Amino acid sequence: MKKTVAFSKDATNVFFHILTQCNLKCKHCYINTKQHGKQVLPLETIEAWLNVFARKGRAANVIFIGGEPTMHPDLPAAVKKAKTIGYSSITVDTNGYLFHDILSKVAPDEVDYFSFSLDGATRKTNDMIRGNGSYDNCIAGIRKTIRKGFAASLIYTVSRMNVHELDKMPPLLADLKIERFFIQVIGIRGKAAKIDREKLQVSRTEWLSIIPDLAEKIAGAGITVTYPKVFLSLDELFECAGIVAENYFIFPNGRVYRCPLCEDYPLHSMVLKNHKLLATGRINEADLFALNTPEGCVMNKLIQPDNLSYSSNGVPEYKIACCMLKEEIRKI
Ligand code: SF4
Ligand code: SF4
Repeated sequence: MKKTVAFSKDATNVFFHILTQCNLKCKHCYINTKQHGKQVLPLETIEAWLNVFARKGRAANVIFIGGEPTMHPDLPAAVKKAKTIGYSSITVDTNGYLFHDILSKVAPDEVDYFSFSLDGATRKTNDMIRGNGSYDNCIAGIRKTIRKGFAASLIYTVSRMNVHELDKMPPLLADLKIERFFIQVIGIRGKAAKIDREKLQVSRTEWLSIIPDLAEKIAGAGITVTYPKVFLSLDELFECAGIVAENYFIFPNGRVYRCPLCEDYPLHSMVLKNHKLLATGRINEADLFALNTPEGCVMNKLIQPDNLSYSSNGVPEYKIACCMLKEEIRKI
């Protein structure tokens, strides 16, 4: 069953960067410590900030992220706090190294998913992007996680460097017993913003000819697959998640963004101060969300206009979807 995952209108998604430190140095890392800070958040702050978003009167999902969140010694306590105060789902994103013996300090009924990042079907490609040893550690981490009774999902960030290996993923996913597979499109931010885009971004033609078919194939093996829609025809509905959804991207320096494409800039529309969520002054990302551009996503037009195309009379040939709009193919 294939469906476009509309933005959730009645749930809050909290992407909580509890630190920005990481043991890896991936080529496309989106972390930008100038903008996001270098603090390792104390547990007291993590708990207070979790409370802020749990109290918004809606179901809330939290994704602990970094940096590498398992490097934070208080991650188990943070998970337990999120569970106690009623978060609907708890996910831990990880590069697979699983520091501080995290799997022994939380229980399978406390974490909905450990979500692993792997950027190649082979050691060679993955390690060229994510660093030597990262493939073996990720695979070992996934196997250990499943053995301990947790559910595992896998994120594959598609770029020119690894798009050719996507078709090798189905047997690997089946072997690893992955329940959910997330295909991501590379974001031009952090370190990726310093790399020649031609070497990073997959063209529209390639994306459309490879990704939807491959997602169907993987879903056919019983794995739920999610991938970003990226391109919309001119008559398809465009919506900006910054306006219609409740996503919060929290960083250790207290910045709270509604849009991940804004994270390289001081455009955050909120900030956490003294454990309170406050609006920032103008101009911020919210001013941009309101601009109604015929090309769809306004941030895309500002920071990566090369993926747009126009007819001879200046009309866009398609729109760019919000980066958070996904297609999901579920096992049936
Ligand atoms: S694992 Fe994530 S946080 Fe660490 S370097 Fe890679 S992309 Fe950056
Ligand atoms: S990615 Fe574009 S459409 Fe989505 S929230 Fe950001 S500005 Fe809005």
